[in-house]
Amino acid sequence: MAENVTVSIASSRLAQTCALGGDVSRLRFATGARLEALHRMGVRTVRDLLLTLPRRYLDFTRVTTVAGANLGEEATVVGRVDRVELKRPRPKMSISEVFIQDDTGVMRASFFKQPWVAEQLKPQDLVALSGKVGFSYGFKEMRSPFHEVIAKAGETSGYARLLPVHPLSEGLSAAWMRRIVSSALADIADPCDFLPAGLAAAHGLDPLGRALRYAHFPRTLAGAEQARRRLAYDELLCLQLALRGRHDLEGGSRTGRPHVVEGPHLEALRASLPFSLTEEQAQAVGEILADMREPRPMNRLLLGDVGTGKTVVAACAMAACADTGTQCAVMAPTSVLANQYAEKVGPLLDAADVSWRLITGSTPAKERAAFTEAIREGDVTVVFGTSAILSADVEFCDLTLVVVDEQHRFGVDQRSRLAQKGSVADVLSMTATPIPRTLALSVYGDVEVSRITQRPVKGAGVNTKVVPPESLDLAYGAIREEIEAGHQAYVVCPLVEDKDDPAGVENPSGDERKLKSAVAAQRELSRSIFPARSVGLLHGRMSPAEKDAVMKRFRSGETDILVSTTVIEVGVDVPNATAMLVYDADCFGLATLHQLRGRVGRGSVSGRVFLETSAKRGTPARKRLTALEHTSDGFALAEMDLELRHEGDILGYRQSGLATLRLVDLAADADLVEAAHSDAQALLREDPALERPEHRPLAIEVRERHALYFEEGGGA
Ligand code: ADP
Ligand code: MG
Repeated sequence: MAENVTVSIASSRLAQTCALGGDVSRLRFATGARLEALHRMGVRTVRDLLLTLPRRYLDFTRVTTVAGANLGEEATVVGRVDRVELKRPRPKMSISEVFIQDDTGVMRASFFKQPWVAEQLKPQDLVALSGKVGFSYGFKEMRSPFHEVIAKAGETSGYARLLPVHPLSEGLSAAWMRRIVSSALADIADPCDFLPAGLAAAHGLDPLGRALRYAHFPRTLAGAEQARRRLAYDELLCLQLALRGRHDLEGGSRTGRPHVVEGPHLEALRASLPFSLTEEQAQAVGEILADMREPRPMNRLLLGDVGTGKTVVAACAMAACADTGTQCAVMAPTSVLANQYAEKVGPLLDAADVSWRLITGSTPAKERAAFTEAIREGDVTVVFGTSAILSADVEFCDLTLVVVDEQHRFGVDQRSRLAQKGSVADVLSMTATPIPRTLALSVYGDVEVSRITQRPVKGAGVNTKVVPPESLDLAYGAIREEIEAGHQAYVVCPLVEDKDDPAGVENPSGDERKLKSAVAAQRELSRSIFPARSVGLLHGRMSPAEKDAVMKRFRSGETDILVSTTVIEVGVDVPNATAMLVYDADCFGLATLHQLRGRVGRGSVSGRVFLETSAKRGTPARKRLTALEHTSDGFALAEMDLELRHEGDILGYRQSGLATLRLVDLAADADLVEAAHSDAQALLREDPALERPEHRPLAIEVRERHALYFEEGGGA
């Protein structure tokens, strides 16, 4: 096994000679509180420091003088601080007033509600101010401009034309970061490049040394971008190699269990279905069974929008375990979902004579002991559960298939802990969260993908309409109609309580709007808009027991309208709910809204969805929402989100490997993602353990960046 690990231990000695892997504390000035501040930012090695790229660059190629700054235009002005005052015109209001001077005149800058600015800036500091130039009380003035200290009082500074502004943590100044980064760059001088020369050339990438220098101290912005791309490619390639190395470790080279497919249990399951599989479902089942009959362990992702019928596809795979005489574990992220599985799939399995159990955190101890005994003895084929099934008392007799639903909600370690309960189990992951191809490639590396795009149920689907606040009556009217027809409705809000509103605080100009909170909406709807109806409230600050009770009342039809935050996003399935109103819809990403609207229109009646927004016609926010009126393709919407960098929606994926992709811009770097993926495959095909001399440095780099992956499985 050890020889097959991408990186051999012996060569790690070589790494110690490489300055990039050295501890940051070796650098001059990196001591005491500053060293601690670097550690807080996750910077431990020189590599970490140099891969902490500037958030932006101050462009001094366009610096003007005080006299030359035109009124009403954006400008950057550099000058020495002349005077600083902190004014408090009324309680809770502060204005830091700073006067700077250059050879041509004096300019004032006022900073509202930023008292710390007055403490930070001292007379004689050399600062740059960027902002719109105005005029008041006889001075040219900037209001809350972007400001940056170039040199403290007494220091001289020949500043560069493009000045990097690095991410900071408390206790570090941008000026100090620039200093330590340049000292690190001087230290490593011209490092040997770990990237095989052919690859850098093929993609037109900068050599490592130049990329590091230009990423921090570029001559042009284009040069900085070129440098970032080289470093982003490194991240992608190393992650691919690490994932691949781990995959090999977890069984890529080992053989798994070939399953019996198309046996009697599967046949019985098929025969008992009240419907026939759609073409896409049949194809997905075919792909999964083809993987399962092979000795090579399966690693497949089943992607399908909400309501496309993934569950029954997974059930077919479970039946194959019964035919093989082995076991299957199905892990769902919440107990609501695990229960739903048992309710929906349980009867299908019963009809096919496949035994199953459900284990969650609330399974009574006595029952649990009986279940685990049966599982250990091999008397149970399928186990549904939450992460409760990861605990040590759940031991399988012969686990050969692991099904993970909404798998991105679990961390890498949880998924591999489950897989380790079988010697070499096949893995089927399922998700309704649309994941763009680039993301799937970068997070899962070698996973195979099956996709379902069409909904099986005719008539299901949603009709989406964007409404301005003044037309809310349309939405209320539709909800009223649906309730009168015996149906139910969801109302979704961006905030839990009014006091969570982040506006006001940051935006003193007074043009902020007020976002709707679930608590306020519930009050308003139940008192004045639907006084005769029962309006429930659900949000993330409630205890699990409270949430369960609320959901139970909604599911039973006791509650007509459920007001909530996005907690209903995942998996809640109440077919009788046919209408939805989302307040301040522009606060959400498209993928989230798409997930949300998938909650209605699950039965045979199509759902009616209203997206309320005060974004005006023609604005980008409004156009984005309008896309939802026209397309029902979750993947297309996810790609749009990515283009718009609405990262919140894909944040769930960060824990599964994306966290290490700090320099990659998934929208702009799609070509790099593809390149790194195929390069990694080609490299490993040629030299599986990366042990040829020309690949050694790369192997070391991978190991240093992803030590975790290798330690985890190292002893397996
Ligand atoms: P999801 O992909 O969101 O998990 P489900 O598996 O819950 O979707 O399926 C949604 C609904 O469609 C369920 O009520 C299921 O019974 C139904 N369904 C699944 N496949 C078919 C089919 N081939 N024909 C008709 N209805 C189907
Ligand atoms: Mg599902």
